[in-house]
Amino acid sequence: MANQWIAAIDLGGTTSKIAFISQGGEIIHKWEIPTDNSNEGANITANIAASIDVKLKEIGATKEDLLGIGMGAPGPVDYETGVILNAVNLGWKDHFPLKQSLEAASLLPAAVENDANCAALGEMWMGAGKGARDLVCVTLGTGVGGGVIVDSRIVQGVNGAAGEIGHSTAVPFGGAPCNCGKTGCLETIASATGIVRLALEEIKKGDLQGELTSMYANQQKITAKDVFDLAKTGDPIGQKVLNEVSFHLGLILANLANTLNPEKIVLGGGVSKAGSILLDSVNDYFAKFAFPAVKNSTKLALATLGNDAGVIGAAWLIKNNLPSTI
Ligand SMILES: [Zn+2]
Repeated sequence: MANQWIAAIDLGGTTSKIAFISQGGEIIHKWEIPTDNSNEGANITANIAASIDVKLKEIGATKEDLLGIGMGAPGPVDYETGVILNAVNLGWKDHFPLKQSLEAASLLPAAVENDANCAALGEMWMGAGKGARDLVCVTLGTGVGGGVIVDSRIVQGVNGAAGEIGHSTAVPFGGAPCNCGKTGCLETIASATGIVRLALEEIKKGDLQGELTSMYANQQKITAKDVFDLAKTGDPIGQKVLNEVSFHLGLILANLANTLNPEKIVLGGGVSKAGSILLDSVNDYFAKFAFPAVKNSTKLALATLGNDAGVIGAAWLIKNNLPSTI
C-alpha cells in the first residue's frame, strides 16, 4: 500500500539509527538504540526488531503499516544474498547472513546494503543528488566511504567491494598505513583521522606557527574541525592541511569522473561540514585534473541530508524493490 512506511536502519558499531520513512522519502519517526555487539553480535537484529515493535505500539501502529525493512551496514555486502562479508566492529563472523537474520527477527521483507552505498542512494533520492541518475558520493568521516551510482543503481563489483574510493591509493610510496592493510589510501589523508594526523605532523615539525600550534600546546588535542575552522581564519598549518586534503581528493575524484562522468559528485560525512572552504578548494584541483568534457559537466556538491542520508538510502532499497544492483 502506498501509505505504508518503510523501517530503515543505519547500523553502526556503537549506535544504530532507526527511522520510519514514507514512500515519498520523508522521515516520520526517528530514534537510536545502542548496538549490542557482544556474544558475536547475536542480539543485534533481535534488538532492532524489538525496538521497532515497541515504537509501533507507542504510536498506535502495527506491523501492517510497514512495507519492509531496509538496512545500511558497515562492511561489504553481497546484495543479492544479503550476506555481510565481514564486519569487524559488530562481532559477526565473516559471511553473516544479515538479510535472513533481519527477516527472521522482524517478520518483514528485508534488504541490506553497505552503509556508504545507502548514503549515496539517500543523497540521490532526497538530497544533493536529487534527480541525478549518475552520481558518486564520498563520505568523509572517521574513515572515507564511497558509493557509485550508474543509471540509478549502485555499482557492486564482483565481490560487493566496488566504490571503495577511500582505499584508492593517493600516496603510492611512503604513505601512512590504512586500516585495510595497505598504505597511502585516500582515507589516510581525507578522513577526520587523516586530517588530524597531517596537522600533528606539521605541528611537530615546527616550521609553521599559528593558532593551531598553540591550541595543541594548551589542550594536547585537536580535531579535524579545529584544523578547518582555523584554516578559514588563515592559520598556516590549517591552510596547508586543507590544501593537501583538497589536492588528493580533487585528483582522485577527477580521475574517477574521467572514467564515469557522473552528473554529481556529492561530498558528505562530518568533514564535509567544513562547507564552502573545502568544496571550493577541492573544486580547484578537480578542475585542474578533469578533462574538459568532464570538467564542464560533472558538478561537485555538498551533501544536504547529513546523518539522515543512511536511513533514507536504506528505505530506498525497499521502496524500489529488489534488486537494485547492476
Ligand atoms: Zn585502505
